Amino acid sequence: MTNRLQDTMISTAQLKPESQFARPAAHLIASIRGALPGPTLIILGGIHGNEPAGVLAAERVWLRMQKRRAVLRGEVVLLRGNTRALEQRVRYINADLNRQWTAENVRTAELEQGTPEVSELLEQNELLIVIREAINRALGEIYFLDLHTTSAHGQPFATVGDTLRNRRFALNFPLTIVLGLEEQIDGTLLEYANNLGAITMGVEAGQHEAMTSVDNHEAVIWIATVATENFRREDLPELDKSRSVLKRASGGEKVVEVRHRHAIVPDDHFEMEPGFKNFQAVRRGKILARDRVGAIKASETGLILMPLYQALGDDGFFLVREVKLFWLRLSALLRKLKVGHYMHLLPGVRRDPLNENCLIINTRIARILPLQVFHLLGFRRLRWTDKYLVVSRRSYDLVRPTKFVF
Ligand SMILES: [Zn+2]
Repeated sequence: MTNRLQDTMISTAQLKPESQFARPAAHLIASIRGALPGPTLIILGGIHGNEPAGVLAAERVWLRMQKRRAVLRGEVVLLRGNTRALEQRVRYINADLNRQWTAENVRTAELEQGTPEVSELLEQNELLIVIREAINRALGEIYFLDLHTTSAHGQPFATVGDTLRNRRFALNFPLTIVLGLEEQIDGTLLEYANNLGAITMGVEAGQHEAMTSVDNHEAVIWIATVATENFRREDLPELDKSRSVLKRASGGEKVVEVRHRHAIVPDDHFEMEPGFKNFQAVRRGKILARDRVGAIKASETGLILMPLYQALGDDGFFLVREVKLFWLRLSALLRKLKVGHYMHLLPGVRRDPLNENCLIINTRIARILPLQVFHLLGFRRLRWTDKYLVVSRRSYDLVRPTKFVF
């Protein structure tokens, strides 16, 4: 079973004996069901075990929510992510829990009998149980918030898979919105929930150990409960304070897109140059890091995001660039007009015969119609080889599914 995941470093034999058994209940911080029907808001903290701020924020708020059940619509579910890694304050035990949520992996996890030997497969099975229960109870829209922190210091920000429904939700928060991060990383839980039809948002609240990260996550949680309409704004005295906490901490409400990811493996001996912060401006050619081959320079002028200052992780840093309001409005218009449905009529662009939501684009055409055009129309990049660019249309860009099939 270990061959499904790379990075098998510590065996589960080194875990405490009681933690080798499935314990889905350990993931549930609280489930607060309102007296009135409404949407479901699922909030997850600590999918990375060295990022406890989201869990601490959820533990701060749940009792106050519980006391207001009479005016709560729908349900708020607060969850712990990687419980065994959280106990040890490490990012993960055997493998990154936020890289294994491909549809295929989830199907395999369900078919497997017995207890997996990889700690994170056990965690995934447990989380599937509690998330599925919440989705099965849901009567309205489903929202999914994933709370993280970074190894570098800097302003909090939101990561958003670029559907119009996600954008609309994310604009409720006074945060910088980062589009396209999920395109760079496979198997995240948010992308999985997004493909099911949930409205999703990730939040990076600040540095792992900073208490302000807990404050920022708390503010995000309260604002989310109003953005989803779980609470009416007049029933939530915390709202104004939460907005000002986030406003003060964040670097404004711009929208940026990911342009470049510097992927790393342990053998690279990657080391970031000291002192970089999230959203720090860098010029093309500036030395950002070093590895065993030599200096790593910025491939273009932009803003640096999530420079890696910890041992574990496979993203060295990202480069992002601001997206102007004009382009956001244009893409919303083009998507509402469903222009993406006609792209296969262009020369050099064809539908994948196995998946009608995928387009296969000849790279000769991809040079004329670059990836950004497909982004505008609501596609995400799947692969880019010598001959082809493959993109897929996001399933629930404009409307939610009639039924959630988990
Ligand atoms: Zn994280």
